[in-house]
Amino acid sequence: MLQPGEYIKDIFQMPVGTSVTARGWVKTKRDSKGISFIQLNDGSVFTDLQVVIDADVVPEETMQLVTTGSCISVEGDLVESPAKGQAVELKGKSVEVHGSADPATYPLQKKGASMEFLREIAHLRPRSNTFGAVFRLRHAASYAIHKFFQERGFIWVHTPVITASDAEGAGAMFGVTTLDLMNLPRTEDRGIDWTKDFFGKQAYLTVSGQLEGETFAEALSNIYTFGPTFRAENSNTPRHLAEFWMVEPEMAFCDLDDDRHLAEDFLKYIIAYVVDTRMDDLEFFNNRIDNTVLETLEHVANSDFEHITYTETIEILEKANRGWEFPVKWGVDLQSEHERYITEEVFKKPVVVTDYPKEIKAFYMRMNDDGKTVRAMDVLLPRIGEIIGGSQREERHDVLVEKIESMGLPLEAYWWYLELRKYGSVPHAGFGLGLERMIMYLTGMKNIRDVIPFPRTPGNAEF
Ligand code: ATP
Ligand code: MN
Repeated sequence: MLQPGEYIKDIFQMPVGTSVTARGWVKTKRDSKGISFIQLNDGSVFTDLQVVIDADVVPEETMQLVTTGSCISVEGDLVESPAKGQAVELKGKSVEVHGSADPATYPLQKKGASMEFLREIAHLRPRSNTFGAVFRLRHAASYAIHKFFQERGFIWVHTPVITASDAEGAGAMFGVTTLDLMNLPRTEDRGIDWTKDFFGKQAYLTVSGQLEGETFAEALSNIYTFGPTFRAENSNTPRHLAEFWMVEPEMAFCDLDDDRHLAEDFLKYIIAYVVDTRMDDLEFFNNRIDNTVLETLEHVANSDFEHITYTETIEILEKANRGWEFPVKWGVDLQSEHERYITEEVFKKPVVVTDYPKEIKAFYMRMNDDGKTVRAMDVLLPRIGEIIGGSQREERHDVLVEKIESMGLPLEAYWWYLELRKYGSVPHAGFGLGLERMIMYLTGMKNIRDVIPFPRTPGNAEF
């Protein structure tokens, strides 16, 4: 096991003359005038360690096994590197080959393989430059998320993955069952007898931890959840996954303005953290994937987010009269084309849209005094559109009961959620950030399938 101080990122910090052992996977090997040049990487840093081995130092049989994809340890001394971009390189004295990789079949031979092809070899793509960088950034952003909340006294709560409340209506749900699908137990009217199922009722994979999160906010004040979330939406888009990671803070003593400002501070904090700690990877994305990455991150970090209401947004869109694919009038949900127009062309910075029509938002959002809109917010970013959805929650028992009934939802199913409004209710609010949307934003990667280790999408659950 690599110990702190033994990673390639640590080796880069050591002075010329240090004796070290470097371990990792060979990116490339090139032989020139009796010298072998090996690019070695252990995933700890973007830059490969250059290893130089003179002929006759290491037996020829060993060197033949050192090919792209093989796993090796090299022992030697750090010397000054003539190559640019690195101060030191390793002059190898001995090589141990842990696992060879047959050049005739190793799939990750060439640079410039397409993203589609790399998805088919998701078990090997973390070894590529791009995916090493993506997953280091994903790690750094996740760490920043925990750090942000914990510095503010939030408690991390683990809400369940399996749930029996078809609660949120946030999206289509995956069922969870142990019933024999070839031989389903039937009720008298030929329905399925779910009382015979594992949980004694129908169960699903969660679409959001929010409702459970609210129970904890009304006990521990400020909480957040951070874990996998599932949506069986059959939408094959570059922005949707069937399994994705969501961060959901929930705050007692909080209204929509506080919520909105927290979301803004939160996004800026994540950006600042990755800029501080992972500039090497960000520069790669800026040079090779999208040359606006650094500029837009800096821009977001330094702009005050714009705030407008849904009603104002509709007025702007109607006036723009762009020949929208999805026509706009008060009451329709905003589509990606509208969101991007507002944030990219009108304000040219992040925009928080609040106070949506009650009909297009979830039942739990707090009713405004106009009786038509609810205290919802969406945070829109240039390039991405919606990255955060949130709201102030309805804390009034009678208003909530009326809302659930008017939406034709089963009151019994929400008994515990309603009890929170009966016992010690308080204004509270929260939001959900899709981690993968954030990683797309940070990296400029165009497809959400390329910012999660093993993407689950319609028709695809390999690996
Ligand atoms: P969209 O309109 O983009 O489908 P949504 O309105 O369904 O999003 P919410 O239910 O508000 O989204 O979820 C909160 C956040 O979770 C979103 O802002 C987004 O960042 C993320 N998200 C939602 N659905 C998905 C998905 N299928 N794959 C990845 N991230 C998602
Ligand atoms: Mn959705």
